[in-house]
Amino acid sequence: MSELKLCQGPKCHQYHTKDRLKGPKDNKTYQTRRRSSLYYGSGNFCSMNCYNDWAEIFSDRAIDHFGRLTEPKHLNENNAWQKTYDWDSNQDMFYVYRNGITNEQRPLTKQQYDDTNYTLNERG
Ligand SMILES: [Zn+2]
Repeated sequence: MSELKLCQGPKCHQYHTKDRLKGPKDNKTYQTRRRSSLYYGSGNFCSMNCYNDWAEIFSDRAIDHFGRLTEPKHLNENNAWQKTYDWDSNQDMFYVYRNGITNEQRPLTKQQYDDTNYTLNERG
């Protein structure tokens, strides 16, 4: 059996739903949801409500910890490459890198498309 994950929402147990009500018949309590898969916030939250509850409390601290933007980022031809795919006239799928500024297209292999580390964008 796969391991169950707990929703990280700080108020998850405060939402009165039947599935959160657990325990022996005479001592039921509303409990944080436990699931094999959670679908929000990179698999950490059971719902957008719980995700938003977490963000309301912890966003400032998380952003300060990982680095707050202090000036706007700029999209230019050096970082505007996006992986995409299309179908040719034979209905075969093909992969390309498309530059969102210059509209230049470069062919990609499926392996390059799937490789999350592969990029034509400048790092940084
Ligand atoms: Zn939750």
